[in-house]
This record gives sequence, structure tokens and C-alpha cells, in this order.
Amino acid sequence: MPRKTFTLHSSLLFDPKKKAFLPNVSIEIFRATGAITKAYTRPASSSSPLDLQDGDIDLRGANRVVMPGFVDSHTHIFLHAYTERDATEQMRDESPVERIVRATHHARAALLAGYTTYRDLGTESLGAADTNLRDCINRNLTPGPRMFVATEALASSGSYEIRRENPHLHVPRASDPADGISGVRAAVRRRVGAGADIIKFYADYRRKALRFPRPQSIAFPPARPNPAVPLYTQEEMDAIVSEARLAEIPVAAHAGETRAATMAARAGVTTVEHVFEDTHDELSAMITAMLANKVIWVPTLATAELTPFFESTKARVKAAHAAGVRLAAGGDTGTFNHGLNAREMELMVEAGISVEDVLEACTVGGWEACGGDLCGFRFGWFEEGNRADIIALDADPREDRRALRKVGFVMKDGRVWKRDGRAVEDADRVPRWPEEEEEEGEEEEGEEWTDLSGAEPRMAMSVPLPVLRGSKSAS
Ligand SMILES: [Zn+2]
Repeated sequence: MPRKTFTLHSSLLFDPKKKAFLPNVSIEIFRATGAITKAYTRPASSSSPLDLQDGDIDLRGANRVVMPGFVDSHTHIFLHAYTERDATEQMRDESPVERIVRATHHARAALLAGYTTYRDLGTESLGAADTNLRDCINRNLTPGPRMFVATEALASSGSYEIRRENPHLHVPRASDPADGISGVRAAVRRRVGAGADIIKFYADYRRKALRFPRPQSIAFPPARPNPAVPLYTQEEMDAIVSEARLAEIPVAAHAGETRAATMAARAGVTTVEHVFEDTHDELSAMITAMLANKVIWVPTLATAELTPFFESTKARVKAAHAAGVRLAAGGDTGTFNHGLNAREMELMVEAGISVEDVLEACTVGGWEACGGDLCGFRFGWFEEGNRADIIALDADPREDRRALRKVGFVMKDGRVWKRDGRAVEDADRVPRWPEEEEEEGEEEEGEEWTDLSGAEPRMAMSVPLPVLRGSKSAS
């Protein structure tokens, strides 16, 4: 019989709870649940070789930094880079099949980049397909991060839609339109019923697009042809949050401007996304409201990078962080390509936030953005009972500003997906002839696979997975 646990050894490990790099930490993992059973520091005197047993993983070595898997707190799994194809064309013209096939590649790329959790904020015109992709990953049909999804975002009538000057054109809807107190409550209920893990709503949007329509140029447009303006009253935002609380799920609010961000923060949302502009000089009001209601800001700097608001947004993020506002790292990934997610962390560092705080925002901060214990799991730090989501960087992020791109090892739920910088092949997905199964079954039985017999039914994410299949060497 295989041992019930295996151990992963590090020589340098980042502990996000302590915001510190610690030497000589080992983590024990329970195979059957993919959860951590303990994390401990090896005695300083143990310069002698480790007693590595079958299935143990040795991630010691110069410049190698072990840490919890990254959480991207703002993604769109069905989008690919807007520089490849703009948003409207992706939503309107790409087939659902193409978008889903792309999404499976996106999920794999993200996982191999060290992202073991995705907080996915809207399918962008693909209904609730994100719930199905989430479930496919949880059922181990395709590799990817653990996903928490929003299905369709809520927006008021006439706001977050695919724009067209031809009113007779039928296009898929880009949001779940909802108005009024009872209307937004009903919309939250629809999202929960559709399988959402999180409610997303648009607190503001550039909804006056058809006053000076683009892309055909208008001869003499005003200076601000289409500013982001609030979509909801304070009472409607309050109702969205209150209804989501009944369902015990978190709320994310899109806000382009500090004005709507302040309203959303006053309503008590879990997170506010973006906030690239401060036209009405409400930054301090926003910070006050965020601090009062413990609201997390997900500034999506990787998207701001492509706008004229980049420098001012970085300055506001730094000011809010200094004032004590909680940050989480989410790039709005999908508007640029999945797999390049770490750009967000690099830009947070560039904004003047310490490496330790950024790594914390991308782990524990991400878990909190997912709703914390409301999401049903614990991940993002090392503690008994947490998911065994563990990655290793091949460089020290305190010394190498590109270290977060150098992910050489990825484990999610106790299963290894990448080692020595290469993807671990998914051999178990290839169908085999019955004779083959019999032959191999004899060797493998009880060795590589956890015995499922007699196990209690579990949630999909706790289903025992093969660990270190086909590899006995430690690396
Ligand atoms: Zn987004």
C-alpha cells in the first residue's frame, strides 16, 4: 500500500501570513484529500541528507522559492487578448465552440503559470458556461485552476451591452440586465440559481456610447464623449449586497471612476475592480469607505497599463495601500493572454508595493476576494486542512524582477502538474485497451492510485487524484 501522506521539502519558502521568507520548511500532504496535514520547520542542525521516501518531493536548492499557488482575482476565461481581437468581435462573432476550446487552453496555461485559483468575473456573452468549465476542471476532465465564477454580470438596462447602431441586429447579451430594488434582488437570485460562486455588478459604465458612436469618427466630439457614470442608485447597490449576503456569496463591483467605487464600497461589496479615474476628486472618500467596510481593491493594473490612466492609477493604488486598503492581485486576465497573469504582480511592485505585500495579495488576498470561508475552501497559505496548492519559483522575487514568471513547479490539490519547468503529461486521459489496463493494473494497483473503495462521497474538489503518476524520482 502507498503511504497515506507524502512530504514536500523546501530550503526557502514564502509564508504569506508572516509575510516572510523562511528557511527549511517541509509540508506534509494527505493523498486522499489533497489537503495539507502539517507544515513544519526542519531542525537547523539537519545538514545531513533528507530521508526521502517514495513520493516525496524535494524542492530544495539555490534560488528556489516555494510558495502557495497564485490566485488571480480578476479573470475572464473565455476572453483572449484584445490586441488579437477586440471585445465586441469576440462576444459577437466567435463561435461558442471556439471560445470553449480556447478556454480549455487558457485554463491549462494559467495552471502552468502557477495560478491554482481563478476568480472569473463574467463569461462576456457566453451565459453561464463558466459554471460548466469550472465543473469540468473539478471533475478532472481538463487541467486548470480552481474556478470561482460569476456567470453573467448584473448591469442596469441599456448599459453593458454589445453596441450597434443597427437596432435590428440580434446579438448575444453581455450582462443580465436588472433595475430597481426588486429587479436587482431577482437578478442575484437568477445568478445564484445558475450556479454562480460570486455576484458581479457594474457600478458604473461608459453607457452613453451611442451619443457619439465609434468607430466611425464624429467630426467634433466633446472632450469626454462617454464618461463612466453610475448605473445604480445607492439603494440598488445596497440591495445587491444584501441579497448576495442571504445567499452567502461575495460581491464584486466594476467601477471605472472613484465615484461609483465609493458607492459600491458604502454598500459593503467584497471587492471593487479597476478604478482608473478620479474625475470628481473622490479618492479619499473611496479610501474611507473601503476601510470602513473592509473592501478589497483589485486594481487590475495589467489592464490599466494599456490606458492613459496608468501612472495616475498606480499612484492611487500606492496611496490606498499606504492608508491600509486591502489589495488583491487580479489582472482582468483575458483582456491580455492567460498564462501571462504575473504581469499584475510585477506592476504592483512597480507601483511601489513591497514584494512581500504583493505576494500576500496574490495568495491570502485572493482567497479573501473569493469570499474567504464562504468559498468553501482554504488556500493561499500553509496550514493544516488547506488545499495543497504549492508552487516553486526558480528565482528569488526579491532579487529578480522577472522571478514571478519563472514558475518551475506546480501542485494543485496535492497533484503535480508541472515539475522541472515542464508540464506533467496527462497520461490517464488517453483511453487504453482492456488488456493493457489489466497488465498495468497489476503493477499499479495500490501504488499510484488512492483506493476509492469505501470512501465517503466528497465534493468534486476533494476527490482523490493520482499523485506523482509515473514518477518516482524526487526533484
Ligand atoms: Zn473584467
